[in-house]
Amino acid sequence: MDRYKKQRARMVETQIKARSITDPLVLKAMETIPRHLFVDEGLIDQAHSDNPLPIGEKQTISQPYIVALMTQALELKGKERILEIGTGSGYQTAILAHLADRVFSIERIAALATRARKILDQLNYYNVAIRVGDGSYGWKEEAPFDAIITTAAAPKIPRYLIEQLVVGGRLVVPVGSRDVQTLYKLTRLAEDLSQIKKEDLGGCRFVSLIGESGWKE
Ligand code: SAM
Repeated sequence: MDRYKKQRARMVETQIKARSITDPLVLKAMETIPRHLFVDEGLIDQAHSDNPLPIGEKQTISQPYIVALMTQALELKGKERILEIGTGSGYQTAILAHLADRVFSIERIAALATRARKILDQLNYYNVAIRVGDGSYGWKEEAPFDAIITTAAAPKIPRYLIEQLVVGGRLVVPVGSRDVQTLYKLTRLAEDLSQIKKEDLGGCRFVSLIGESGWKE
């Protein structure tokens, strides 16, 4: 067993199963995807620690538990088309690509998108399309999506994203102030956009969504 495999197994046992994440597909994906490849070389020893880490450009790779919690909430079975807002390091993207059919990911910072693309190609995740831009508009040409995940915090629920969900689709998004937010799971129940089920998944702290449905820089 290689060193990082052991570290991943320990991360899943102590940080993720221990906090009641039970979806076996999510647990397996997190044991499999080499998280250490998505962090800066200087931080590789901390790649599996129980916190977010800087990835440059004032952005972060999310805490492993938060990745697991958000992914479990998307209820993936393998055939989904997913939209991700905030590619960042590409780690969450790889987890999604492992668990679903197609992933469309949008990142506003070109340097991060380029780096993520390179690592995802190295790992043969060719079912991922990455685009540089403001993801708060969604990706209209590829809509609708079975699931949408936003890994940057919004001041309010981004309406464009709800519109791009299939009926029955799930949106997981942190909403709140720039400092602290609540993680919500929203399920679109009908064509009528007023019929949305809203579940509170707990408190969280994300970097800000910058753009049309977010904050000014
Ligand atoms: N899931 C990522 C990971 O584990 O590496 C975490 C990404 S980080 C917390 C949030 C990302 O959202 C940043 O890379 C940031 O540049 C990006 N972002 C912020 N606003 C955005 C927007 N309007 N459209 C696309 N990306 C955005």
